[in-house]
Amino acid sequence: MKRSTIIHRRPKLWRVIKLFNRNYKPAGTTFTFGDKIYAEGDPGPSTRAHEEVHCRQMRYSKLIGVVHFVRFHFSKSFRFRMELEAFRAQYQFLVDLAPGSKNRTAHILARELSGPLYGRLCTLEEARRAIIK
Ligand SMILES: [Zn+2]
Repeated sequence: MKRSTIIHRRPKLWRVIKLFNRNYKPAGTTFTFGDKIYAEGDPGPSTRAHEEVHCRQMRYSKLIGVVHFVRFHFSKSFRFRMELEAFRAQYQFLVDLAPGSKNRTAHILARELSGPLYGRLCTLEEARRAIIK
């Protein structure tokens, strides 16, 4: 089974990423490309579960990663599908750890999914419903 590697620094081309997404802040945002997860600090296990899904989506390949990155930028529906899959995995990971936290976890993740980082893909409530489905 393929696996990702965490790189504890910002991606070398972080300025290029920033051109595509003004809300990208390398110090606080984890960025995944191919089989690498770039995080300046410790991303923590739940973020890792989220990013691992993106690695799988890119088949752990930088070439597919480039295609993914471009589609992610230009297609809102692609971005939503890719992020929803990752947020669902993160939700499952967190709920397995703390089953009593379902509502709060769904709310926190829904706020991210519907937030500015991804270009406000949907409303908070739509995100919450999609994540817990
Ligand atoms: Zn994501």
